[in-house]
Amino acid sequence: MSTGGHNGPVSPLALFDLDNTLVDRQAAFRRWARQFVADRGLEEEAVESLCEFDDDGFASRERVFDAARTQYDLPESTELLIAEYRVSYVTHFAPDPEVNQAIGRLRAYGWRTGVVTNGPPSQRDKLTRTGLIELIDGYCISEEFGVAKPDRRIFEEAIRRCADPDAASDAASDTVWMVGDTPIPDIAGGRGAGLRTIWLHRGRDWEPTEYRPDAVAATVRDAVEHLLSE
Ligand SMILES: [Mg+2]
Repeated sequence: MSTGGHNGPVSPLALFDLDNTLVDRQAAFRRWARQFVADRGLEEEAVESLCEFDDDGFASRERVFDAARTQYDLPESTELLIAEYRVSYVTHFAPDPEVNQAIGRLRAYGWRTGVVTNGPPSQRDKLTRTGLIELIDGYCISEEFGVAKPDRRIFEEAIRRCADPDAASDAASDTVWMVGDTPIPDIAGGRGAGLRTIWLHRGRDWEPTEYRPDAVAATVRDAVEHLLSE
């Protein structure tokens, strides 16, 4: 029985983490660090130290720049260094044709796509600079929404923002996938929200034993091929 309105089929939905999943944050941070070191005439080894302070993006920016100030005797305040970093770091992101083609391929097969990312509002600049913003149906940034992965509410919000206006109802959870590189935020978080998950291994072994991703992939392209084979 039709109740009016649209009753099209529900498109499957793939949600992706951003840093070190759709974008190579590690490489971008290193490019930023090289520039920072060159601009200040610091020794080249400082690039490695800055990458260590960064801890793959998991250290607070206060910690990173407090450490840099101390180590290199920088004259600026931590606050000023962070403000400069916020402006220059995002300029080191650029489109990745392989990733953008993979997302385009998923869309060509009728999938909807979205991004769920922990971080500041400037995460949006990465989506813009990489061209991803043109390719996705929606995104949710933790510091804008007020809830971070692994809390299930950020996944639910992303699903809502990516909803297909032509579908009769929201996508059922068995048609929603989460793809990401971190075990707890992405894989445990996705599972907690009832989603199926793909872990990007980045050369690491899977360690948690109490849960597992549904699949493991080396690249976004591999993850997309897995989704299309489902
Ligand atoms: Mg990540």
